[in-house]
Amino acid sequence: MEPTHGTTPLPTTSPLPRPRSVVIVGAGLAGAQTAAALRTHGFTGHVTVLGAEGLAPYDRPPLSKELFSRTSPAWLADELGVDLSTLADEVVLDDAVTSLGPAPAGGPAVVTTSGRRITADVVVLACGSVPVRPAGWESAVTLHTAADADHLRTALTSGAHLVCIGAGWIGAEVAGAAAGAGCEVTVVEAASVPLHRQLGPAVGAHLAGWYAAAGVTLLAGTPVVGVSASPGAGRTAQVLLGAPDGRALPADVVLAAVGARPATDWLAGAVPRDARGAILVDSRGRVPEQPAVFAVGDCATRTDPVWEQVPGGHWSAALLDPDAVAREILGLEPGPGHAPYVFSTQLGHDLALFGLPDPAADEVVLRGDPDGTAAGGWAALYVSGAGLVTGIFVVDSPKDVAAARKIMAGGPVKLDLARAADPQVPLRTTLV
Ligand SMILES: Cc1cc2nc3c(=O)[nH]c(=O)nc-3n(C[C@H](O)[C@H](O)[C@H](O)COP(=O)(O)OP(=O)(O)OC[C@H]3O[C@@H](n4cnc5c(N)ncnc54)[C@H](O)[C@@H]3O)c2cc1C
Repeated sequence: MEPTHGTTPLPTTSPLPRPRSVVIVGAGLAGAQTAAALRTHGFTGHVTVLGAEGLAPYDRPPLSKELFSRTSPAWLADELGVDLSTLADEVVLDDAVTSLGPAPAGGPAVVTTSGRRITADVVVLACGSVPVRPAGWESAVTLHTAADADHLRTALTSGAHLVCIGAGWIGAEVAGAAAGAGCEVTVVEAASVPLHRQLGPAVGAHLAGWYAAAGVTLLAGTPVVGVSASPGAGRTAQVLLGAPDGRALPADVVLAAVGARPATDWLAGAVPRDARGAILVDSRGRVPEQPAVFAVGDCATRTDPVWEQVPGGHWSAALLDPDAVAREILGLEPGPGHAPYVFSTQLGHDLALFGLPDPAADEVVLRGDPDGTAAGGWAALYVSGAGLVTGIFVVDSPKDVAAARKIMAGGPVKLDLARAADPQVPLRTTLV
């Protein structure tokens, strides 16, 4: 049976002897940043990077936000100065790894689609995530890669009807971009408000009005029960809505934006994974009881001393966590920690969420007026039963973004909530 771990602490593993070779599986942000961090910290050994997309590392966030305005990938070599051709000794971008296991001579080994077996002193799993497309939704497309963005852009001609399933981060971003490009856009969301799981009902309700303002129809509280090819001429697909709506929505393009899951099916039985398929690692990216195997980015859930279980799935973890992994591989002291952080630009608004709130249990304290017309934005503070602020969600307020980043860096904190609720009071001065 596949080893699994719940929320219990992961077993510790003894330090590695200084390695001479590292294989990185995945040529995305986390993989590229791992190669960069190893070199930054002085690693002179052999680095191999194996990818599956056939493209050099690029940034995914612009794929949705800038779907129509940025038609070629935002290469990490240009954006971050992270150029695998100078960092790694060998880069193979189109030979996916199919298995991980022990090498006969000890240490880990990977086998690729082409049948190559590569052994190394250390393997770092940075294989990211794949979008979820429920069974039976073959007529829907998803958005994860530059190729997906090309396909979507071509299909979304002006006047086309896009039905986007899911009012999460990516659904909202694509909906706004498509409406701006002249498409007719309907977003169907099963929960009562956008970003319900991430922000909770009280805060999510303040986002609902953004859709109509951007020319997008939002059908919240409406589950989708099926997606099928269109029976009639003219449209390519239809989206079947559950009760109480019950309609069949004709569409030229259906986008399933219902989440992503770790791209780890190929690792079944090889490393401990949770129910979502995330590889469970300690705070420095170590896979328990496998001293030479690490995981980082979207494919991993990290046990953090402050935040406890931090699931991957967001850009900042893929950007920053490779540093901790590289330090651990090289036997160096850990660097400074950082709070979980998600950003989004959607429907004309800039969003940032720091920390790990529990929207189902935490109370919400608003800072500013989400429905007001005054410039300057607003924020929501999530407060646990113990009176600690577990997360800060900031909308259209760059100065609060900077303060929230600092405030949340060390974990949940106590704030003077009465003062923090007053947008005239600088947020950073409300720490108790
Ligand atoms: C459209 C879009 C918009 C986004 N916007 C935001 C945002 O605004 N804010 C935010 O915080 N986050 C955002 N994200 C999430 C963010 O982009 C990811 O968290 C980040 O890209 C994760 O990087 P990664 O390297 O862990 O994984 P990935 O980017 O998924 O890269 C993993 C790479 O590994 C390769 N791979 C997979 N399996 C194998 C294998 N077996 N062998 C070899 N290679 C393999 C894959 O092909 C892929 O290239 C967005 C994501 C998408 C798709």
